[in-house]
Amino acid sequence: MRDIKSLTLEELKNEMVKMGEKPFRAKQMYQWMHQKLARSFAEMSNLPLSLREKCAENYDYTALKQVRMQESAIDGTKKYLFALGDGKLVESVFMRYKHGNSVCISSQVGCRMGCAFCASTIGGLERCLTPSEMLDQIYAITLLTKERVSNVVVMGCGEPLDNYDNLLRFLELLNDENGLHISQRSVTVSTCGLVPQMRQLADKGLQITLALSLHGATDEKRRRLMPIANKYRIAELMEACAYYFEKTGRRITFEYALVGGVNDGDEDAMALSTLLKDLNCHVNLIPVNPVKERNFTQPQPLYIAAFKNKLEKNGINVTIRREMGRDIDGACGQLRKRQLALQ
Ligand code: SAH
Repeated sequence: MRDIKSLTLEELKNEMVKMGEKPFRAKQMYQWMHQKLARSFAEMSNLPLSLREKCAENYDYTALKQVRMQESAIDGTKKYLFALGDGKLVESVFMRYKHGNSVCISSQVGCRMGCAFCASTIGGLERCLTPSEMLDQIYAITLLTKERVSNVVVMGCGEPLDNYDNLLRFLELLNDENGLHISQRSVTVSTCGLVPQMRQLADKGLQITLALSLHGATDEKRRRLMPIANKYRIAELMEACAYYFEKTGRRITFEYALVGGVNDGDEDAMALSTLLKDLNCHVNLIPVNPVKERNFTQPQPLYIAAFKNKLEKNGINVTIRREMGRDIDGACGQLRKRQLALQ
């Protein structure tokens, strides 16, 4: 059955016409799904019962079930574990910032990228999320918190550019004026660096922010942490980033997880400065979140500060990522991993 919440308004109009309905029903239904955040056809009270029944017979209507929620005692960050229609689990996070509320969503169940420090990839990739399942995470959190979401980051479990078509459709639906109408500038997509898809995305000319998980300033260092570095060299990545900037005018964010004794030395800071010095970019340093199954630790705070200073001295725009929800399995995939171990 077709997944009705993944259809664009135009597509929904065609479906309505095929069913012998008036096209204006499409807009009503679209708004029920994407603005009023209805969890079933039954809730769509101003639509004829016969139409609701026909739709329930002919379409899938996705909705998430909350399995767990953990709230940080430190900063109020809420981490949700949701079950999809087939029972598979994904994580999403709600964060409150001065500039508004932000939701971090997952794009896949599991991940096949194999980064050495990441919990999401431990069991491999189970499946990609549909556009509706990506939206549902935002919708469910909006309903549960009763708060408006103004920013979305695709930085949860999975590699979004490994689910490219669904990601693009998700972005289109999220931005639609008959839906939540979240502006592209309020959306960040993070990738481990799939060069062909980065270029493809650049050609779309969207105004979203692209974040690149770099984590190493040389190919050799990067390969120690990220298998994808064997496929694409840093030189190719940098060209793809420059291309993204050229096509969209959007500054790239580089994420750099600081791993004690691996990529946190002076020479690493120097190499990173050299690599980025001519680029209009921003660097986000993330002290690695230790994952039980992995043997990595955070650098000493002094090292983190020294690393940041070195970049700043070289004129690079850098921040240390505030660690939201440190006490609630904040790192990607940790909550899901723990739940799976219990089952
Ligand atoms: N697959 C995408 C998005 C998912 S993860 C990507 O690779 O960018 C979002 C960010 O968190 C990435 O930079 C990822 O490398 C980082 N990350 C994953 N596990 C982490 C951990 N244990 N500690 C710190 N950062 C981590």
